[in-house]
Amino acid sequence: MESGARGESIEKLKGLKISSLDDEDDKIEEEQELIIEDDDEDDEEDEEQEPVVLGFLEKPKCHWSLLRQLFPSKAGGVPAWVDPINLPSGQSCTCDICGQPLQFLLQVYSPLSDKESAFHRTIFVFMCTSMSCLLRDQHEQWKHGPGKPSRSVKVFRCQLPYSNPFYSSEPPKHNGNDRPLKAGVALCNWCGTWKGDKMCSSCKKAHYCSQKHQALHWRFGHKLECQRLSLSSQLPDSCDSAPMEKIQVASNTLWPEYEMINENEDEFDEGETSDDERRVNSLVPTSRLDLSMNSLLDSFKGDSDKKCWAVFQERIARAPEQVVRYCRHASAKPLWPMSTGQPSKGDIPCCNHCGSSLVFEFQVLPQLLYYFGVKNDVDSLDWATIVVYTCGASCETSAGYAEEFAWVQLYPQSAA
Ligand SMILES: [Zn+2]
Ligand SMILES: [Zn+2]
Ligand SMILES: [Zn+2]
Ligand SMILES: [Zn+2]
Repeated sequence: MESGARGESIEKLKGLKISSLDDEDDKIEEEQELIIEDDDEDDEEDEEQEPVVLGFLEKPKCHWSLLRQLFPSKAGGVPAWVDPINLPSGQSCTCDICGQPLQFLLQVYSPLSDKESAFHRTIFVFMCTSMSCLLRDQHEQWKHGPGKPSRSVKVFRCQLPYSNPFYSSEPPKHNGNDRPLKAGVALCNWCGTWKGDKMCSSCKKAHYCSQKHQALHWRFGHKLECQRLSLSSQLPDSCDSAPMEKIQVASNTLWPEYEMINENEDEFDEGETSDDERRVNSLVPTSRLDLSMNSLLDSFKGDSDKKCWAVFQERIARAPEQVVRYCRHASAKPLWPMSTGQPSKGDIPCCNHCGSSLVFEFQVLPQLLYYFGVKNDVDSLDWATIVVYTCGASCETSAGYAEEFAWVQLYPQSAA
């Protein structure tokens, strides 16, 4: 990794900060801007890294802290749709493999300061909860046109300018009194996730995204509730319940809801004293990670995978409970757990709205499954990493939500 000229110039700029040979782990930050031009060369190892922001999960502080008017980053529960009207619809909401509505995984609020139309900007990730769908998705993600590959993981981007019909231009006060300017469309009463554009024909009160969810709700509660609702016409229709917008969710199979808190990775440099402190508060037992990491190591056939894994493991160990690594920068790269199963440039499609290249924006780590209470069984949902690529131009789209691209890397299946 130590590449002559570059190494030296970094050393000059960073002065005493360089203490070891593994410069790949050192933060270069602004200094990199200065040296990147003359030192780019053909060094494809280009390992100096942009600062990464890590996402950690916490239980929401208040019942209102994850509402859409506060532009949260969050995982589990229901999405806080930024544009509450023009939600993704039709096939976008379902697993292309089994046809079930997708489940909300997480959303990351990542506005772009240099782009007026992206004053508010959130990336949403959804996936099918079936591991067998994810295994089939593996083959699909390598497919290049002409048809659309059948995916079980989908990503959407939504952005709004400073001045928009949904939210005040005043920043939220976070005191429980923030309100959106406009109510959203009725959501599915079962999943609380997708647009409820189908309605129960007897009560005309309950909304659903799909027949599947209508059937589930009927079986688990609505059958009784329906009669009562049809008799009492004074009950407000869910789509008129504007101000606080408590989303009704009947399903108990959503993943538990967390607020995502950001911290810079360089706060977690090795040898920092706060390490023990953090471990006390850590929800993810480090032993779980160590265990799976060691047993996985045995399942890797090639040396390149083992090497890659060791680098990955070392980097993650700085803050083992991280669930997201965020770095939207032209030269940013994902931290891959393995060398096999990585896409080449040609495997990442272009933006299907404007044709720009998609760029890496963030990756989701499997620690999330621990927070979600997903068991470690043979057919349980599992992944090594989910890498999210978004339009490099973050283009404006006529629809409220632009579909972006996810690349999923799974652990070797012999390990499962
Ligand atoms: Zn599926
Ligand atoms: Zn639904
Ligand atoms: Zn009904
Ligand atoms: Zn685009």
